[in-house]
Amino acid sequence: MTHNMKSKSTNIIIMKFGGTSVKNASAMKNVIDIVKERQSQNPVVVLSACSGLTDRLLKLIRNAGKKSSINLMKEIAVIENHHLDIIDELINKRDIKKNCSDNIRNLIQQLTLLVEGVSLLRECTPRSLDAAASFGELMSITIFDAACRDRKLNSVFFDARHVMKTDSNYTQAVVDFKGTKKLSIEYILPLSAKGKIVITQGFIGSDENGITTTLGRGGSDYTAAVLGSVLNAKEIQIWTDVNGVLSADPRIVHKAVTIPEMSFDEIRELSYYGAKVLHPDTIKPAILAKIPVRVLNTFHPENNGTLITEKTKEKYAKIRSVHLKRYCINLLINMSHSDSTETRIIELLSKLFESEIKIISTCFVDNRVLIAIDNPDESTHNLIKNILYGLDYKIENISLLCICGVNLIEDSDILQKITILLNRFDPKSLFYGFSSTSLIASVPEVNGENALNTIHNLILEMNKI
Ligand code: ASP
Ligand code: MG
Repeated sequence: MTHNMKSKSTNIIIMKFGGTSVKNASAMKNVIDIVKERQSQNPVVVLSACSGLTDRLLKLIRNAGKKSSINLMKEIAVIENHHLDIIDELINKRDIKKNCSDNIRNLIQQLTLLVEGVSLLRECTPRSLDAAASFGELMSITIFDAACRDRKLNSVFFDARHVMKTDSNYTQAVVDFKGTKKLSIEYILPLSAKGKIVITQGFIGSDENGITTTLGRGGSDYTAAVLGSVLNAKEIQIWTDVNGVLSADPRIVHKAVTIPEMSFDEIRELSYYGAKVLHPDTIKPAILAKIPVRVLNTFHPENNGTLITEKTKEKYAKIRSVHLKRYCINLLINMSHSDSTETRIIELLSKLFESEIKIISTCFVDNRVLIAIDNPDESTHNLIKNILYGLDYKIENISLLCICGVNLIEDSDILQKITILLNRFDPKSLFYGFSSTSLIASVPEVNGENALNTIHNLILEMNKI
């Protein structure tokens, strides 16, 4: 259970840096500068493995389960050299450099033993996968901490496994919030109170027997959110390689801009409709504990990024982002055609739900039912054909526009403006999303991009950017 009441926050900030932010010496140097500038804010730094490394380690250990370890030693050497090269470039003081290189060699030795063991058994279990994957984060924080000390920063290496308690569901372990909270308060807070910059691993934890677990791929954001929540941090910062959450996909909308602030509801909605932003599940503990999350760019730290909070200060209705979901269909069924229509629609819907096909919306228009379906494949089309056989229905290829903002329901002006603009694109439907933060429109597939850019211009105009 996470706590969902906002109590007084501590003066800690969580700073999480992903794999690309620590991929090599110059990236790490950059991250150290960012942390240094914020050292007075009591940062707890959560790091991922160097980018690509988790994939490599998992592949290595899977291969060990299939064949002799001899062939795998080359790959281990590549991993070792990659880290030793970073140390060489990043760390200046001789003793720190030597000590750090020894630590990495030590970790590599342990990894080698693991690979040999798995190879001898010819069996790679989920537990072995977690053990192997954990070396990525272990190596990145070993180097990062040493590099901080090399620059006279008051940092401390803190193994997340001491506090991040989980069940034993290897590769997808579930966090025990109560245990994690108790230990984090006991061990991390005092270090931070002493002015230490705490450096710890994302993604990994340990079960009740102290065996290494992981929280699922990409789990470092989740670690940051868990630590932020149990330590009641002032802010959780997710440092990545984009300027925060953008008003649209910059590959399609060249004028896309950073959204300075948005609510948890908006991020939920955006991600449900497919925007590749921070996934709300990964920051759920922060959402429940109402802790502000800020998305920032490691490579442009001067930008303020996007601040995501429970409620934004915005008083008036405003749209702030628009996302295009391609390759959807609108299925329109005429209800007055036959008595069995209703039963058959219910049958179709339950089959669609069973098969995990994403239904974007279902609504009644006059005497027709409109079901919007995300990316249907051949079997979905067959299912529709079989169940609705003989009924009066049609399928339209559409793109969905998810238009997100604040207080949308309260302002008919916005709805009117959007309707006028969309009318140029032969709109098929327009309805509110799950909350007052979104409007969902469908237009013919071919009009998707133009409609997106047009709505985006309205965003720029409204936000005076
Ligand atoms: N290194 C882990 C992964 O690649 C965790 C993370 O990057 O968030 O899945
Ligand atoms: Mg990663």
